[in-house]
This record gives sequence, structure tokens and C-alpha cells, in this order.
Amino acid sequence: MAAPLRVAVVGSGPAGAFCAQILTEESGRDVGDLAVDVFERLPTPFGLVRYGVAPDHQKIKSIVASLTEVFETPGVRFFGNVTIGSGAGCDLTVDELRAHYDAVVLASGAPLERRLGVPGEDRAGVVAARDFVSWYSGHPDAAFDTSVLAAERAVVVGVGNVALDVARMLVRTPDELRRTDVPEHVVEALAGHRVREVCVVGRRGPEHAKFTNKEFLELAAIDGADVVVSPDDLVLSEQARAVAARPAAARLLASLQKVAEREPQGRARSIRFLFHRTPVEFAGRTDIDTAVRAVRLAHTQRPEIVEDLPVGLVLPAVGYRGRALAGVPFDNTSGTIPHRDARVVDGERVLPGLYAVGWVKRGPSGVIGTNRLCASETVEALLADAADLAGSGAGPEGIEALLRARGVPVVDWSRWQAIEAAETALGERTGRGRVKLHERDAMLLAAGVAG
Ligand SMILES: Cc1cc2nc3c(=O)[nH]c(=O)nc-3n(C[C@H](O)[C@H](O)[C@H](O)COP(=O)(O)OP(=O)(O)OC[C@H]3O[C@@H](n4cnc5c(N)ncnc54)[C@H](O)[C@@H]3O)c2cc1C
Repeated sequence: MAAPLRVAVVGSGPAGAFCAQILTEESGRDVGDLAVDVFERLPTPFGLVRYGVAPDHQKIKSIVASLTEVFETPGVRFFGNVTIGSGAGCDLTVDELRAHYDAVVLASGAPLERRLGVPGEDRAGVVAARDFVSWYSGHPDAAFDTSVLAAERAVVVGVGNVALDVARMLVRTPDELRRTDVPEHVVEALAGHRVREVCVVGRRGPEHAKFTNKEFLELAAIDGADVVVSPDDLVLSEQARAVAARPAAARLLASLQKVAEREPQGRARSIRFLFHRTPVEFAGRTDIDTAVRAVRLAHTQRPEIVEDLPVGLVLPAVGYRGRALAGVPFDNTSGTIPHRDARVVDGERVLPGLYAVGWVKRGPSGVIGTNRLCASETVEALLADAADLAGSGAGPEGIEALLRARGVPVVDWSRWQAIEAAETALGERTGRGRVKLHERDAMLLAAGVAG
């Protein structure tokens, strides 16, 4: 009889979960013949579905139900609160996983923000959209100083869906926020903030905007703010018209045009789109001022025009990048793990039994479903190698022994369910639906593994 196949997956976001799902559904192996252990640094599963997808997008978040089924499939185990890497804060190394499992799939996502490279980017008040998103999503490691919400104008740099999420969350009403699962301190901070205008700045013209028509229409229909598009920004050059003829761009431009023709309703807040502009400096008031007071915007089509926009909060939303994992090759330029058909490579050499999937493999692009296609490719490669790999690792028992010896408070699936129950109870106490716990200690306490 062939040896069972034991696979470790690093990361429980969509990419890791889809791998586990496809492995159990399509490997042709039965329970006992296949083991998939998913290691997650947070006490909670689902990656950016829990900590990225906007809280008011509950329909998209309903994917959690099918991801839950994956973790409840016989043969799949969840090891939450276990960080893979080396050095302080890490519990297991990739090499240890490789020694104990037949294959290791890296699904660690793209947790770092891309920088703009604009002078003044380190000033107080310039906050990566990622940090704002993590904060309103209740991520336990979120670092966001709410004092920046005292600003009257915020500028979001970037014209992707994340930029729109961030702009929308800044104008949601407290009632709308209370219908989501965001922690109460987030509702309070967003309810009391002073931001009156949110400018969304795009380097290129509207024909190149990366946000989808669906996301834009949702924003345009929001109660809490006037959405303002300048008709001047919609005048297209001949070159731009060729791009604008593509169906997706044409649909979006038609929606932008409709909004540009609308009269503002005099709402308390507004979201203003500024295309063909790029920030060239985040300026302070004086040389010794460490806070951002103005964004200097250059017009990309007419560089002689430069405008200073007074501002107290800047949220660059220009993309994410992966983080290197100790013991694994990493391409610093793309922020991804180099691979050939999902097999991790070190230069020309394929590292046997090591695979990548999701954002850490292909960069931060696509929707959740794109990770399923990506996972299919990864699992296909892994199963093609399975005959050589099966039985090559010493077995997961050794990893469990290491975790015990190191005193790692592992959050397994039943302990995660205890966190879920605590979140439901918290919501009931505050007259809301389920409300997220946002502190690691509180999560571990709810899971019954604290102290
Ligand atoms: C702000 C934002 C909003 C989005 N909104 C939408 C949307 O509305 N609709 C949509 O379709 N897509 C959306 N996406 C995209 C979607 O979230 C991604 O396509 C998807 O989450 C990528 O999956 P992943 O598994 O590769 O990465 P992730 O979801 O990031 O999962 C990676 C997991 O690995 C864990 N991990 C990282 N390092 C380690 C380690 N060393 N040890 C153990 N675990 C580790 C992380 O904690 C995380 O749980 C959004 C993305 C962002 C950033």
C-alpha cells in the first residue's frame, strides 16, 4: 500500500483553504490516506476574508461558510496561533515543517503595504490604507492612531477597490456600521470623526481606474456622502478613448458620467474623485513640523500645474506585497516567492516538496475566486509529485510534540468555535449582531488557551 500523503499549509486565507479543499476533494485519497494541517499565525482563520474584505460587504464574506466546511472536512486540521518563520515570535520553522510533512504549501499572503516613494511619506497622518483596514477589521496587530481622524480632509491615493472600501468606510453612518461586525471602539471612532471630505486621487485617467463598476455604483448610492466627479476629468484624449472602449471601462465611464451630471445634495460629507493627479510631496507646515498638512499634487497631463491640498490624513492604497519567510527564496522586487508552476525554486533549482499559492505566489491581484484557480494549479503540481513525496516526512506527530514542548497555545478548530461563540455573545450584549473580538489576549481567553 502507498504511504499516506501529509501536507502542511502555511496560512488559512482563501488560498490555503482552497488548497486543503481541492486536496481532499480531488486527490483521490481517502481519510487516513491524506492529512492536511493548516498553520495560521492568528488565532482566527480565513486571512483577508476576515481582515480585508470590507465589513459592509457581508455578501462577499458569506464565503466563510464554505471555507468553514473545508476546515471541518475529515483529514483537515487547523493549527491557529502558530507562526511559521524563525526568530522572535515564531513557533516553527519552514525547515521543521519540511522535515515532518511530505509537502509544504506556502499560502502566507501579502501582508505588507507598497510604498509610494514620495517625500514626506513618513509624516504623522500618512497611514497605509492597510493599517486603516486592519484597524476597522479588528485585526489583533492593527496599529492605527485614531487622532488622525480629527482631520477635516482625507486623501486616499489609488483608484482600486481597496481605495473605495476605505473611502466608503470613512463616510458610513454609525447605524450602518453597527449593522456590521466591526468592534464597538471602531464604530465610536468613526461615528465621531471630523473628516468632511475624502478625495480619491488617481494618477491616470478614469479609463484606467481599477475599481469595478459594481464598487463605484455602491459608493455612488451611499446615504452618508455626496459623490463628486468632475466632468473635466471625463474628457478623454484619442488615446484614452481606445482604452475606454473596452466593455468594463465603458461601463464604469458611463457610471462616472452619470454621477458627474448629478447635483450635490448638500450632505455632511463628500467623496471627490481627482484623476490625472499624483502626489509629489506630503508637506508639513514648517521644516520642524512632523505631521502632514498638505498634499502637493502634480497634474500628470499638464505637469506645469501643481496644487496644494490642505489635508490631515493621507491613506495610500497602492497595493500589498508579500513578506519573506526564513528558509524560503523570496523575490524582493515583486514581493512574491519565486516558483515554476507553483513549485518553489531557488534560482534554477526546484525545492522538492515546497509549493506556493495565492497572493504570496502571484502578487496581490484578483478576487477571492482567483485563488481557487491558483490553488488548482498548486495542487496539480503537488499531486503530480505525490508518488515521490508520500512518506518522505517524519510525520505530523513530531510537529505536535514540538508545539507542546515549546508551550505554544494552539487554537484548534473547536477553540476557534469558542471564539466565534464569544463574538456572538458580545454582539448580543451590545444589541448588535456578532461583533469581532480584536485583542489577541481576549481571543485566547475565549478560546480557553490563555495563560
Ligand atoms: C482591503 C482588501 C479588501 C478586499 N476585498 C475583497 C473583496 O471585496 N472581494 C474579493 O473577492 N476579494 C477581496 N480582496 C482580495 C482577497 O482578500 C484576496 O484575494 C485573498 O485574501 C488572498 O488570499 P491569500 O490566502 O493568498 O492571502 P490572505 O487572505 O492574506 O491569507 C494569508 C494568511 O496567512 C497567514 N500567515 C501569514 N504569514 C504567516 C506565517 N508566517 N505563519 C502562519 N500564518 C501566516 C495570515 O495571517 C493570513 O491569515 C480584498 C483584499 C484586501 C487587501
